[in-house]
Amino acid sequence: MSRTLHPLLDAIAPIDPRPLKLQVSNSALAGLHRGYPWLYAERIKEESRPGKPGELAVVFDGKRRFVAVGLHDPLSPIRMRVLRANKPGPIDAAFFAERIARALERRKPLPGTNTDGYRLIHGESDGMPGFVVDRYAGTAVVKLYTHAWLPHLRLCLETLLEQQPLERIVLRLSRGMMQHPEYLYALEDGMILYGDPITETLSCLENGLRFEVDPVRGQKTGFFLDQRDNRARVERLARGRRVLNVFSYNGGFSLAAARGGALEVTSLDQSGPALESSQRNFALNAHVPAVAAARHLTIEDDAFKAMAELVRQGKKYDLVIIDPPAFAVRRSQVKDALVAYGRLAHLGVSLLAPGGDIVLASCSSPVSPEDFRRTMCEAAARAGRPLKNIEETSHALDHPLDFADSRYLKCLFAKA
Ligand code: SAH
Repeated sequence: MSRTLHPLLDAIAPIDPRPLKLQVSNSALAGLHRGYPWLYAERIKEESRPGKPGELAVVFDGKRRFVAVGLHDPLSPIRMRVLRANKPGPIDAAFFAERIARALERRKPLPGTNTDGYRLIHGESDGMPGFVVDRYAGTAVVKLYTHAWLPHLRLCLETLLEQQPLERIVLRLSRGMMQHPEYLYALEDGMILYGDPITETLSCLENGLRFEVDPVRGQKTGFFLDQRDNRARVERLARGRRVLNVFSYNGGFSLAAARGGALEVTSLDQSGPALESSQRNFALNAHVPAVAAARHLTIEDDAFKAMAELVRQGKKYDLVIIDPPAFAVRRSQVKDALVAYGRLAHLGVSLLAPGGDIVLASCSSPVSPEDFRRTMCEAAARAGRPLKNIEETSHALDHPLDFADSRYLKCLFAKA
């Protein structure tokens, strides 16, 4: 086993130790004072010099007082990601070590023998903006959202390895980063930065259920870790029921429902490989009697089309879970997204047997919890099945919400 970091990390040019000095608009100053973690390019009035990705930039107010220091990124509309605000201090090895230690400390209540798939570092909300680390047993997946981390990557990974024993580190790069390959120092999405190549299927445990994980080709970093608590809730609702899991991906909610005692679970997804993965995950957990006892069916089709067809056939389920991909990533897409969510809620309640439960999730960050809830309630009422006993849940503990924009996941549990 190779126990050193990938040599390409040594080829990343070190940063100029003199930070850039920035003058910014008053509204940006107010945001930074409040702890907002991003500074957009259009808010910058003056830059002391042109900067390179990953250099430090310091913002001063009109009276030359320190406001914030962060990582500069000339390639992104988010020109600076804040590391420290209101109180100056060094950005050095000790700083990164402290941030990483604090993030790991927050997850202390979480892992145990039952869960070894969880988020170690959640970017902005853990004081490491644009830097995400998910852990799947001994493999960590580091997902970067800005080139600005590259000059600091070696130091951060060494620090992470000191604090958290790991067998392997996989690098994932955001789409925005891959648009500027000339700044990647030959690093590639999916590269192994530490440890051995992946030769067998990796897996992780979530509350004792085993899931296969593909950190290189899988969605996000391989698994939707943010739904852990909601899956546990679904498990508690599933006993003796017929369950429909729409947008099932690799079957996270399906397995939870099966272990909870569901008689039958239908996973619906348009992706054949995702459904095959869900079937393998049922097989991986066949030693759990309730999982072995539940009948698992799959439907490979577009969710809107397939649900309309199930309604036409007069199918009924006792528990329907609808957890689609993000329909909106920009504000301009919110209106269309709400229409789509409304259609799904309408179809979902139409498939519910009397007294059934519905779970509606949205991971579209520009869609507010209020708009989501209202749209879901209106759509269900229009279908003649108003939502009752609504409970709203959000992110699990390893996806902390330390600033407003970081809230993306919304989930409603209701009867209809
Ligand atoms: N609920 C899942 C995560 C969903 S990810 C979990 O708990 O892990 C979104 C899934 O929606 C993907 O698997 C994708 O293949 C599927 N998908 C996207 N658009 C779809 C559509 N129109 N119809 C059916 N499935 C779709």
